[in-house]
Amino acid sequence: MRAVDIIARKRDGLTLSAEEIDFFVQGFSQGTVPDYQAAAWLMAVVLRGMDRQETIDLTMAIVRSGEQLDLHEVAPCIADKHSTGGVGDKTTLVVAPLVAAAGIHVGKISGRGLGFTGGTLDKLESIPGFRADLTVDEFRAQLESAGIVVSGQSADLAPADGKFYALRDVTATVSSRPLIASSIMSKKIAAGANCIVLDVKVGHGAFMETTENALELARLMVDIGRGVGRRVRAVISDMSQPLGNAVGNAVELREALDTLHGGGPADFRQHCLTIASQMLVQTNLYEDEDETVQHLTFLLDSQRALQKLRQWIEAQGGDISYVDDPDLLPTARFIRELPASRSGYVADLNAREVGLTSMLLGGGRTKKGDPVEHAVGIVLQAKIGDRVEQGQPLLTIHADDEAKLSGARQRLLSAYEWSDEPVSPPPLIHQVVS
Ligand code: URA
Repeated sequence: MRAVDIIARKRDGLTLSAEEIDFFVQGFSQGTVPDYQAAAWLMAVVLRGMDRQETIDLTMAIVRSGEQLDLHEVAPCIADKHSTGGVGDKTTLVVAPLVAAAGIHVGKISGRGLGFTGGTLDKLESIPGFRADLTVDEFRAQLESAGIVVSGQSADLAPADGKFYALRDVTATVSSRPLIASSIMSKKIAAGANCIVLDVKVGHGAFMETTENALELARLMVDIGRGVGRRVRAVISDMSQPLGNAVGNAVELREALDTLHGGGPADFRQHCLTIASQMLVQTNLYEDEDETVQHLTFLLDSQRALQKLRQWIEAQGGDISYVDDPDLLPTARFIRELPASRSGYVADLNAREVGLTSMLLGGGRTKKGDPVEHAVGIVLQAKIGDRVEQGQPLLTIHADDEAKLSGARQRLLSAYEWSDEPVSPPPLIHQVVS
């Protein structure tokens, strides 16, 4: 078998066999298929798609590129959540310790920034010392001792996803149902979670822009997970505007810390409570959704979730003085408000433009392996439905470079649309697929 023939078959719209997919994935993972062939193949998949069976074969080939953890001896239920990617989506930073504070083990492989969306690991690495490259033994040991662990793909766990992921980020090959489904589900299957909630984002700031596409992605991932005996449900949530107010690495971490300290934006807090309650209900240890939300609200407000976060960050080598005093987090050289150019109600706020702007400020990568700038980003002061008077601040830009600051101003002004009439904000949750 030759990689070039497999690329050509997909380019021509043919269906790949399980053997061809496995040959390509293992070859890429082990370095016998180089990046340039993998990039060509990824683009062929984006343009030609994959059917359901090919997507399942791709998922399982990625799982086989590393080890598959069996965590039954650690706990009967290992919970996990995964977002398909959104702007300002810092949910894991709150939900993982919140669910762990409820006594459920949370074991998760997270990702880095992808396209115009941020990544949990890049945000966490705003804390000096935080390690996202745990070995399998460290992953299991921390899950046992702390009840919570969040690491990245490694040489042991879904290594092929780590390599594809870094390449997709910089080759415009993210927006593809089979690539997203296999990337997410391979990580979930490899890391041994058996109670999984998928947060499938829909809107301008998501890789699925229509509810129909989001639903298809959700059903595909739920099917893949159930096919290998995992409990999986999906929440279709809104991503037409950013979630919460902060977009960027350190600014998002700070917003998550504010939320765990009892503050935070109302939409973000509500979203976290919804995802966490779906995770608890999924374990079958909790039944009534309203009671579950009440219990989670108590864990958040009593700072028990914050204590769990401290334990988690410390276990992974992070300096917890940054958790106790978020003012220590890196700050940008220029912090400037952007005033509204007119008065009115915010009718739309294009999340994709906000995410791209944060990336261009230095918060994301343009080439594989680029470092990210942790301090840069955007903090919104006006979102859909808000009434704003001309000259009032719409948002604050955090930049390290004056030229990038001025480019960001133009881009962000055009992300807003206005109405003279009152506008209702979009719902946070569109649907649950269970
Ligand atoms: N999250 C992932 O892990 N992979 C994707 O492709 C998209 C979001």
